[in-house]
Amino acid sequence: MAVKYATEAFVFKKEDRMDADRIFSVFTRDFGRLEIFGKAIRHINSKLRGGLELFSFSEIEFIQGKNKKILTDALLQKRYGALAKEPEKFAVANAIARVLGDFIKGQEVDPGIWDFIADIFEKLQDPATNSKLLYYYFFWNFISLLGYRPELANCVACRQALNPASLYFSYAGGGIACNMCAAHDKTATKVNADTVKILRLMVKQEWGMLLKLKVSPPSKKMLKAISDSYYHYLNDNAHYAN
Ligand SMILES: [Zn+2]
Repeated sequence: MAVKYATEAFVFKKEDRMDADRIFSVFTRDFGRLEIFGKAIRHINSKLRGGLELFSFSEIEFIQGKNKKILTDALLQKRYGALAKEPEKFAVANAIARVLGDFIKGQEVDPGIWDFIADIFEKLQDPATNSKLLYYYFFWNFISLLGYRPELANCVACRQALNPASLYFSYAGGGIACNMCAAHDKTATKVNADTVKILRLMVKQEWGMLLKLKVSPPSKKMLKAISDSYYHYLNDNAHYAN
């Protein structure tokens, strides 16, 4: 008889296959990322039906088949299904899922990431949340957990104190650069002091303070540009353990 594995899983992607089958991409507490095969799970009589949903936490059991992991049991623990009814929140949940899919490649167990995902989805369903800001909060803290915490206190290249009037974000350096160092860095792009302040609050996980902050439209735009560019830079250049 095949060995049964049990763990808790967060579903960040699902793909329908033929014959009412479905493949789930999950991040698990005990095995890191897994792709789990739900045999005939979309069938009306499937006992697994409803046990595993997108953006939900479930207790699951699976067996290792010949070339895939097959779901044998699933019990829904925490469901964030209501997100689907709020387009802005649903878009943020999907953006978070995309980051997870791109950056978590294999079976690395990471309790920090597990707890962080749970915390982010609690914050996302909170009616008082700012979902756009939450996405950036997620992104900067998530890459920090992966070992890419940005240097925001001193110049990332020469370690000198920064002049708030002349700040750059260096994608290659992974943090803020002074104008002298930025001059030799093709990946450095100008940022304003407000955006750097927001990034500092984010990596300090000052979510309460961020919610109260009035972010000006230019800083919002800059935060988006820097976050998106750094995402692509890391995705193209970083080498992950798996
Ligand atoms: Zn410098």
